Amino acid sequence: MGADAGGRDGVTAAQSTNGAAPLVELENLKLYFPIKSGVVLDRHVGDVRAVDGVTLAIRRGETLGLVGESGCGKSTVGRTILRLYKPTAGRIVFDGRDITKLGEGALRPLRRRMQMVFQDPFASLNPRHSVGRIVGEPLRTHGLATRREAAARVRDLLLTVGLPADAANRYPHEFSGGQRQRIGLARALSTNPDFIVADEPVSALDVSIQAQMINLFEQLQEEFELTYLFIAHDLAVVRHISDRIAVMYLGTVVEVSPADELYDNPLHPYTISLLSAVPIPDPVVEKQRESILLAGDVPSPANPPSACRFHTRCPYVQPTRCRDEAPVLRNLATGHEVACHWAEGIKAGEIKRHELPPVFDPGLQEAAPEPPPV
Ligand code: SF4
Repeated sequence: MGADAGGRDGVTAAQSTNGAAPLVELENLKLYFPIKSGVVLDRHVGDVRAVDGVTLAIRRGETLGLVGESGCGKSTVGRTILRLYKPTAGRIVFDGRDITKLGEGALRPLRRRMQMVFQDPFASLNPRHSVGRIVGEPLRTHGLATRREAAARVRDLLLTVGLPADAANRYPHEFSGGQRQRIGLARALSTNPDFIVADEPVSALDVSIQAQMINLFEQLQEEFELTYLFIAHDLAVVRHISDRIAVMYLGTVVEVSPADELYDNPLHPYTISLLSAVPIPDPVVEKQRESILLAGDVPSPANPPSACRFHTRCPYVQPTRCRDEAPVLRNLATGHEVACHWAEGIKAGEIKRHELPPVFDPGLQEAAPEPPPV
């Protein structure tokens, strides 16, 4: 059979959203970073396949959580949707329009409708600019308001995200991490967007502040009819806010499901292992539970394993097929898709987990050039 990693068995992105029109559609999206060698010739010696065949749909008004380990390509997916990176292949459709190859001029009016909230609320705010200038900057960039209108809008936005209006006259260093993230959110909202990519927006915050921020994201979504791609490395963080969750591994999507269904009934061995590490707030259950350890490190995206990319670490790996044939994303239940040949057998308990994690094959890494950070 054979298929691109992350491909689908005839299920279109739009169908996977239960009939609602998607705001964002990705079709076999790829983003490779070239690896160059040599000072003079600057030869192309390989690629870091940060995103390698992602097909997804994000429907209007929903929050799609995108999770996976560090370096799996989830942030690159978010930035590529916003066309901060030029895709290597595949298609990005935003509100019915193919934006994959649009030039900067044609993208400009669309950029107003797509915004980003970054992980590090300090690094993403210019420390020399006042909060008023930071939040109002997109309004000036897109020519959406006069100076006076922008000042009034900034005050409204600050109040909307729970900050005092006079915060406009202060500087980022005068605020806590949570407050700075609120400033970032106010800036993202300034152009009245339809779609926000929130890239690990609460990872740098204390747990108590995380809950406040997630509540604020939800409140703003309802108020402004926003659609979110909410990126996180922690499954516990995205559960509360996500309608659906997509799990990424090494540049591909391995499972997509409604959020509750994913937690109650994970099907992909990678998701099963991730969930086994999420703490349960019940000491009795937590004590009885077994955490599933994965073998080895995440392989290099410059030289990913053949066929199923997870086979070098999978606790359920089977001979031959896992190493010979790339699993496609299959719809196993309504809206629950998984890219594993043996998902049904694992779910039914017919395929048992190996006692010890399979030995990681170091040969897979031998020829891998050092990748740039993804
Ligand atoms: Fe991949 Fe095989 Fe593991 Fe399924 S069982 S995730 S196909 S290695």
